[in-house]
Amino acid sequence: MTSTIDLSVQELRGVGPALAGKLADYGIHRIRDLLFHLPLRYQDRTRITPIAAARDGDDVVVEGEIRAADVVFGRRRSLVVRLQDGSGLITLRFFHFSAAQKNALRAGTRLRCFGQVRRGARGYEIFHPEYRRVEEGEVAVEETLTPIYPSTAGIGQNQWRSLCTQALKHLKNSALPDLLPAGSARYDLAQALDYLHAPPPDAPLEQLREGEHPAQLRLALEELVAHNLALQALRQRARRHGAPAIAAADKDVSAFIRSLPFTLTAAQQRVSDEISEDLTRSVPMLRLVQGDVGCGKTVVAAIAALRAVRNGLQVAIMAPTEILAEQHWQNFSAWLEPLGVRMAWLTGRVKGKKRAQTLVDIAAGEAQLVVGTHALFQDDVAFAALGLVVVDEQHRFGVHQRLSLSEKGDPAIGRPHQLIMTATPIPRTLSMVAYADLDCSIIDELPPGRTPVKTVLVEERRRDQVVERVAAACTEGRQAYWACTLIEESDALQAQAAEATAAELASALPELQIGLVHGRLKPAEKEQVMAAFKAGEIHLLVATTVIEVGVDVPNASLMIIENPERLGLAQLHQLRGRVGRGTQASHCLLLYRSPLSAHGKERLAAMRDSNDGFYIAEKDLELRGPGEVLGTRQTGLMEFRVAELPAHNHLLEKVQMVAEQLREQHPELTAPLIQRWTGNAAQFANV
Ligand code: ADP
Ligand code: MG
Repeated sequence: MTSTIDLSVQELRGVGPALAGKLADYGIHRIRDLLFHLPLRYQDRTRITPIAAARDGDDVVVEGEIRAADVVFGRRRSLVVRLQDGSGLITLRFFHFSAAQKNALRAGTRLRCFGQVRRGARGYEIFHPEYRRVEEGEVAVEETLTPIYPSTAGIGQNQWRSLCTQALKHLKNSALPDLLPAGSARYDLAQALDYLHAPPPDAPLEQLREGEHPAQLRLALEELVAHNLALQALRQRARRHGAPAIAAADKDVSAFIRSLPFTLTAAQQRVSDEISEDLTRSVPMLRLVQGDVGCGKTVVAAIAALRAVRNGLQVAIMAPTEILAEQHWQNFSAWLEPLGVRMAWLTGRVKGKKRAQTLVDIAAGEAQLVVGTHALFQDDVAFAALGLVVVDEQHRFGVHQRLSLSEKGDPAIGRPHQLIMTATPIPRTLSMVAYADLDCSIIDELPPGRTPVKTVLVEERRRDQVVERVAAACTEGRQAYWACTLIEESDALQAQAAEATAAELASALPELQIGLVHGRLKPAEKEQVMAAFKAGEIHLLVATTVIEVGVDVPNASLMIIENPERLGLAQLHQLRGRVGRGTQASHCLLLYRSPLSAHGKERLAAMRDSNDGFYIAEKDLELRGPGEVLGTRQTGLMEFRVAELPAHNHLLEKVQMVAEQLREQHPELTAPLIQRWTGNAAQFANV
């Protein structure tokens, strides 16, 4: 049965091809899609406020008669209208106005205005109010709270309101199937949508602001269930395929472990066993290994890689940045090449003949272990027998990239096993939603003998002392990082800032060898600098956040981070994790600029007070939201319309219950539910 809400938005009044095109950019094609474009917040225009009762910061509707209207030439020319009601006078101020507008705003005209009150030099004012002429005694104000819709350019609030009001009318005459089991929440779907697009005048604004209204909870629950189901569907889809069973290869593995200069921690051993268990099965492993920076994830991956190679399979190791891939290359080649493992290197910068040869080696199975960046999942990279994919620092890759690499398996031998490693510990609550498609292992122990990094906050005006401290540490034979940060993601600007800092430090510290790495350097140059730093030839390494992940130089024990207030906590924790890898006491100095916002203070204090990645991740989630924490803003995966984490954490248990109930009792409803909330049914369906 189709109902009118399934019709194209073009059926609505005022929607032609141009507007339909703009709506399509929001993923809105059919009338029903509009219903899920939910307001961000609300204004109360249901009451007229007496002018004398208007207060600074209030959004108010006021009504009165114009006493005077004059163009005033102050610092900026403006039209100043004095509006009076029985209680008092308020100023309306327009910086932009047309002649027609000015002529219409004459003394004696009655106006109803809406806008935000601010305190001016001579009493309260409203800048650029929305207004219209009214007749004496005209009462009708808005009957519902006024929704404010999320909107970038192109579609105005009035347009959104008109569209959604029309869509609600269609909703009244149609059946919009309620996909959640009856009794899951207090509101049913249609009620909830109706309430949120047009809340009654007495609606609890505060509760709506906090996302805790039962109508919001209803939709948040449904949305989170849809995301959970989407990931579960991915997992099922992956598991439908077989995978090559990988036998234990215990003798080789034991020999490898004995060859290491350290013994595995109990946590490394446990996680390694969990992986080994997965690998022996003929369904693809989908395992996320979480562990704080420095816990030793790499060697665990190397063990799995060795098993795969000894079973005649190929392994792909994928890292998000060139520098990190480099680091893996060094580790894996040092560990595995002596055991006869043949390795290859593939990033976006490998070009021409070299690339062609590498592709041949990979396709022929000559290369057993391939280390690289996302270049590994380009279309023309074909493996002979890919058995294991290791993805490091997974939060930077989207789910879909993860999938496309797994599709590189040879159908004859099955899908590769996947091992995903992340150093950004993911709060449990979040991983229930974000990683419902993965099994999870946690390395919850650091190798022995590490001294925790001591973190100190230093104000920018004490920069000189920081420079002296660097000098002292380096003269004692230790090494330091100086991390330059910028908000702009632009490599060029970052590089510039780092170059300037390096030059400044070089002139302040002529006795030290100072190196510089940033994203703009050629790989060979980067490699050279990193190698020199590793060898101790460089004392102080000035860097952009390119060193954020993975870089491992145990002798470095001092980390300076400039403008830490600009970075997320997870990123700061990663940067700080570059030190504290050796046995000597390490320090991290956060060189911040005053004044800090309240938020800023709280974040830096969290860094100072804790070295625990899980605690820091929880804090980050609380302060910045899931998209930032997972680095998935671009992938849209954790972009919720109604749900807000961690505010809605209290729903998560129910989310799992309802999702399970649906999967078991109403599997036919999962695809429409996923489609409704993620618009991605095609990708997630056909399980
Ligand atoms: P991360 O988990 O952050 O990726 P790495 O795998 O880079 O950590 O390991 C950090 C450092 O600790 C490396 O120098 C590694 O060789 C070393 N390491 C790993 N496991 C152990 C261990 N069990 N004992 C001592 N050092 C270890
Ligand atoms: Mg690592």
